[in-house]
Amino acid sequence: MSDEKLTPRNVDFSEWYNTLVLKAELADYAPVRGCMVVRPYGWALWENIQQALDRRFKETGHVNAAFPLLIPMSFLEKEKAHVEGFSPELAVVTIGGGEKLEEPLVVRPTSETVIGHMYAKWIKSYRDLPVLINQWGNVVRWELRTKLFLRTLEFYWQEGHTAHASEQEAREETLRMLDVYADFAINEGAVPVVKGVKSESEKFAGAVQSLSIEAMMGDTRALQSGTSHFLGQNFAKAFEIQYLDQNNTLQHCWTTSWGLSTRFIGAIIMTHGDDQGLILPPRLAPIQIVLVPIYKNDAERNAVMPVVERIKSELSAFRVKVDDRSEVTPGFKFNDWEMRGVPLRIEIGPKDVEKGSVALARRDKPGRDPLTGASGKSFVPQTGLAAAVADLLADIQKSLLARATAFREGHIFDPKDYAELTEVVKNGWAYSYWCEFAECEAKVKEDTKATTRCMPIDQEESKGKCIVCGKDAKRKVYFARAY
Ligand SMILES: [Zn+2]
Repeated sequence: MSDEKLTPRNVDFSEWYNTLVLKAELADYAPVRGCMVVRPYGWALWENIQQALDRRFKETGHVNAAFPLLIPMSFLEKEKAHVEGFSPELAVVTIGGGEKLEEPLVVRPTSETVIGHMYAKWIKSYRDLPVLINQWGNVVRWELRTKLFLRTLEFYWQEGHTAHASEQEAREETLRMLDVYADFAINEGAVPVVKGVKSESEKFAGAVQSLSIEAMMGDTRALQSGTSHFLGQNFAKAFEIQYLDQNNTLQHCWTTSWGLSTRFIGAIIMTHGDDQGLILPPRLAPIQIVLVPIYKNDAERNAVMPVVERIKSELSAFRVKVDDRSEVTPGFKFNDWEMRGVPLRIEIGPKDVEKGSVALARRDKPGRDPLTGASGKSFVPQTGLAAAVADLLADIQKSLLARATAFREGHIFDPKDYAELTEVVKNGWAYSYWCEFAECEAKVKEDTKATTRCMPIDQEESKGKCIVCGKDAKRKVYFARAY
């Protein structure tokens, strides 16, 4: 912790992000290049993300299990596209217990192969289907360019793996989990997302179709924030995941996989944060309310602290922290908790004790707006405080989503031609017709560094001309620079 100011976002967004992650004590650099240590405040945020997702997984019929970290190398080679996609990023174990291993083991980059192997063993009949399993864990991908939370060698996530009797069921599952992710992102993270289909070149290695949720960060770059893959029968055929149907005929299963990772913490930071630091959505914030007692001497302290303790117990339905540090000033505490993004601050001083009131300051609005005089600060009676606080937190959650949505809508453009597209993607997303040929996608990437993000699934098929080549196109895609 230090008094050092953050680099303003509009001066250097990347520097702002890197410094903030460290300063807010969310994560730190590990001794191995590209690895991260998630610190308790960051992990508490991840635990809240886990709970919000896990509840949704269980409501949709899924159960949790755990599969091993080490996978035989030969497993990855069974699915051609899968091994081609992942081999540059693999960490391989060749020595175990001092002996050279007969077969190298891969540290899982994802678990389709080992889970497929087990499903082949477990699934016999149509009565065993569907299998709906999720695992919470970590994976390793040997990334060259890394950034805390967004891209690290090892990261934490959940991966769902399901097996079904029919193509339709598996496709429905892929969409259902995309909806679960979108619902989570919007209603828990206050992060607006678009749901869509990835292009062939951007899809998961081994998938028939990949779907994603994409969010716009505060610098207008896109962040793929969760993915759901329809794997067809690719893995079922590679691993012989088969079942006997009602007519006693052997059939291959249809499988899906879907994942959301600690990357989402990056999405929260970059969607909501400002020059003062983090702004955490109340539903996920590790600390929702910080109570700051204000006093100048022992007599005042003796008057204030019992009220602080009483209020803390009255707010037991919320995640509350009392900052009773005596070595720092209230002003220092205000800045510190603002930097850490705590949604609501309650100040209690001797005058508040006399009046039976408290001062509330919301993190998402400035203390005093010099132009309008409007204030994020309000004074409310101690009586009925829990209800007032619940309303305020709900309002902050809603305001964050509204603000992020307005920002995104203000930075999505409909360029009239290719020249305009190359301009708008410098500070926003282009939403344009695309012929769905890889050449056009590659040209945009080459000229602007923008990639296709996704083709929204809720768009009506229509007639247009590809923004790049002018040929017929029937769907629009988002082009954007992405993390
Ligand atoms: Zn084209």
